[in-house]
Amino acid sequence: MSEERSLNFLEQIVEEDIANGVNGGRIHTRFPPEPNGYLHIGHAKSICLNFGLAKKYGGQTNLRFDDTNPVTEDTEYVDSIKEDIKWLGFDWANELYASDYFEQLYGFAVQLIENGLAYVDDSTAAEIAALKGTPTEPGKDSPYRSRSVEENLRLFSEMREGKYPDGAKVLRAKVDMASPNMHMRDPIMYRIKHAHHHRTGDAWSIYPMYDFAHGQSDSIEQITHSICTLEFIPHRPLYDWFIQQLGIFPSHQYEFARLNLTYTVMSKRKLLQLVNENIVTGWDDPRMPTIAAFRRRGYTPSSIRTFAERVGIQKRDNMIELGLLEFCIREELNKSANRVMAVLDPIKLVITNYPDNQTLELDAENNPEDAAAGSRKVTFSKTLWIEREDFMENPPKKFFRLGVGLKVRLKYAYIVECTGFEKDADGNVTTVFASYIPESLSGSEGSTMSVKGTIHWVSTEHAKEAEVRLYDRLFTVENPAGEEGDFKDMINPNSLEIIQKAYIEPVLADAKPGDRYQFLRKGYFVADYDSTAERPVFNRTVTLKDTWAKEVKKA
Ligand code: ATP
Ligand code: MG
Repeated sequence: MSEERSLNFLEQIVEEDIANGVNGGRIHTRFPPEPNGYLHIGHAKSICLNFGLAKKYGGQTNLRFDDTNPVTEDTEYVDSIKEDIKWLGFDWANELYASDYFEQLYGFAVQLIENGLAYVDDSTAAEIAALKGTPTEPGKDSPYRSRSVEENLRLFSEMREGKYPDGAKVLRAKVDMASPNMHMRDPIMYRIKHAHHHRTGDAWSIYPMYDFAHGQSDSIEQITHSICTLEFIPHRPLYDWFIQQLGIFPSHQYEFARLNLTYTVMSKRKLLQLVNENIVTGWDDPRMPTIAAFRRRGYTPSSIRTFAERVGIQKRDNMIELGLLEFCIREELNKSANRVMAVLDPIKLVITNYPDNQTLELDAENNPEDAAAGSRKVTFSKTLWIEREDFMENPPKKFFRLGVGLKVRLKYAYIVECTGFEKDADGNVTTVFASYIPESLSGSEGSTMSVKGTIHWVSTEHAKEAEVRLYDRLFTVENPAGEEGDFKDMINPNSLEIIQKAYIEPVLADAKPGDRYQFLRKGYFVADYDSTAERPVFNRTVTLKDTWAKEVKKA
């Protein structure tokens, strides 16, 4: 697929740069996560783009932790980010930390002060905002803008030494208070923060702002193509200004549209709320849009890479259907997942004319899409579990499953005809009775008999019990972040249904966490890491069909 499509705009830029020998024809990208949360599917798109582009053109990609905000960052996040990138199938050339550049960045700031291009401002945040102007009105100079170089150097050094409390002073770039671009109106470069940093400890009491750290870090690493999302377009003039004034390696910034997915929130701040308020069980709750959650949900790295490729690279913000991601995993699992039988909402089926203690080992094909997948044995007997929904007391005309007088095929086995049923005191059907037709065995001579419906089953005596977790989308509305009100009020109350006692084929009890299957007629499932031989646990990755598309049509 990747070979057939036309070049995206970033590939065009890179090919031109290589053709023109820009930076010696070298391409070096970076992926710069802030370690303040787990990576989500939006980051996956950025990872596929940055690593994919460099790989395609013989370049390299750095993993750079953008760890300039001490308060929200944590090593747990650093570790999860590395695990997730590796799992997606990418390798970084260098593992780097913006905090390792703190000394160098400080030196750059001193250089700007010495050149009269930065000053220490004692104004409060409110005073700075008041003088900032509006997009249509120029701002006004701060009273501290004309401080001498000597005074600025002394004050900045005292800020570093920890002489002043948080918020008492900032260092600002002296750019242009009348610029039509608000980011150029003397942006803040450093703020005072007496906070412990997960790597530098208490060494610093001033921390650089994003705009001063990011481009300089790119430049230090000699990044050629610094790719970010569209909201950074207005930052680009400042990105260029710092690099020009400092006379350092000319990294360039390019912007693409961030990934937005329907029925999903993607901001780490919102995801953190879901975790902290126990609305989900953790960052890797299979309903979360994080990479860790998709892994636990049963998604494969290749399905996510395929998704990123299909979404493509755009210059305009848009919303991608969650259904496309589900399509990518469904398509892959259809080819690779073995079929097995699991009954999620069981009732008993007794085959009255089958001998009491007889069993039959049936040959069951593992995957009709993959001859190499081989087959397994499935044991048939007189008493089976079948799905409650496969029997109806008063079946409508086109019901091709069980009801008194109706015939159905039991997968891999016989055709049976329903002869009766039994209910409990509450009126719930507990047992269905049927008789089997001996000549109808699947694959045998004379099994030319056919019926319209085939249902799955497991032998009650041979089945194992399992917990099955049915996951659905976490939100009921397409764009929870875009609606009025609290996004947490739009949580889908049916996003998780736990079946405590489902019945599975005995082979499934040997499933290891991460093993993926198609439960016939029920969807694709993966063994959860909570799973043990005593108590297997399966997560539904995705249904067999897009059930939400049906809902929309019905409504
Ligand atoms: P959030 O708003 O969720 O906290 P962020 O942009 O602050 O996201 P970072 O850790 O700074 O998160 O992001 C690392 C990289 O991933 C950045 O280059 C950013 O542009 C990119 N990225 C983040 N979200 C998306 C998205 N939805 N689509 C594409 N790229 C994204
Ligand atoms: Mg960020």
